[in-house]
Amino acid sequence: MMDPTLLQGIGMTSQRARERLVARLQEAGIRDPRVLETLRRTPRHIFVDEALASRAYDDTALPIGYGQTISQPYIVARMTELLLEAGTPERVLEIGTGSGYQAAVLAQLVPTVYTIERIKGLLEAARQRFRLLKLYNVRTRYGDGTEGWVQHAPFGGIILTAAPEVIPQELLEQLAIGGRLVAPVGGRRQQLVLFERTPEGLSRRVLDEVSFVPMLGGTQ
Ligand code: SAH
Repeated sequence: MMDPTLLQGIGMTSQRARERLVARLQEAGIRDPRVLETLRRTPRHIFVDEALASRAYDDTALPIGYGQTISQPYIVARMTELLLEAGTPERVLEIGTGSGYQAAVLAQLVPTVYTIERIKGLLEAARQRFRLLKLYNVRTRYGDGTEGWVQHAPFGGIILTAAPEVIPQELLEQLAIGGRLVAPVGGRRQQLVLFERTPEGLSRRVLDEVSFVPMLGGTQ
C-alpha cells in the first residue's frame, strides 16, 4: 500500500511546478486543452522515486528502476494529443506501463485503458499508483505486449511507450477502423510514427525524432 499522504506530498510547490510545466508544454506546441488540463492535475511526483520527486515537474525523462524511464512530459502530451485528435477512443491499449504515468493521463481522458508491462516489479508499483489515484478504469496485464490484448480488441487507440524495430503485426491487427496507433519506431535512431486504420487500409505518417527504451520480448 502506498502512503496516501504522498498525494498532498509536496503540496503547493507541486501545484506551482505543474503550472510551470503546462506553460512550457504550451510553448512547445501542445494545444489540446484536455491534454494540458490533465497534465496540470496529474501528480507526476508519485510516479517517480521519492529521491527524484523534486525533479518530477521538469520536462525530462527520469529513471524508474530496472533500466527503464518515465517518459518526458512533452512526449506524453504529444502522443496523447495524437491519439485523441480524431475523436476520443472507447478503449486504448498501451504497451509498456512502466511507472504508469502515461496510462494515468489516458485514464482521465478515455473510458478504459488497457496496459501491458513485461517487468513485474514495475507493474506492481504502477497498480498501487492507479489505486491511490482511484483510476479504476485502468486494466493491467503482466506479459509481453508485442502480442497485444486480443480479448479486448479492437482498440480505437494503441500507444507504444517502448520502441520496436518494426511494429508487431498483431498490434496493427488489433486497431479498429478509424483507430490510431502512435509509436516510436527504430533502433538507435527512432521516429514517432502515427498509423491510422481507414476502411481502405493503413496510413502511416512519420513525425518527430524521439528516444525511447527498446521494446523487448518475453517477461522479467
Ligand atoms: N509509459 C511508461 C514508460 C515506461 S518506459 C511511463 O509512463 O512511465 C517503457 C516500458 O516498456 C518499460 O517499463 C519496459 O519494461 C516496457 N516494455 C518494453 N518492452 C515491452 C513489451 N514487449 N511488453 C510490455 N512492456 C514492455
